[in-house]
Amino acid sequence: MKTQKEQYELLMEFQSNGFNIVTCGNCGAVVIHRTKMDELSCYECGFTSDPCDFPDLQTEINPRYENGFKTT
Ligand SMILES: [Zn+2]
Repeated sequence: MKTQKEQYELLMEFQSNGFNIVTCGNCGAVVIHRTKMDELSCYECGFTSDPCDFPDLQTEINPRYENGFKTT
């Protein structure tokens, strides 16, 4: 069964290879980028900002998947 946890783990694996998948903080478009960027731009709306304004596509905060999950 596919779970959100699996999606999160795949995203972590993606990040460990130097890439990330995020969503644009302005329009919500899904944006793929290299992790070593100081600034990101959305191809869809042109929004350019700090990586913290582009949330990760998957996060680990869902309490249903707390088992075996680190919280940092
Ligand atoms: Zn955008």
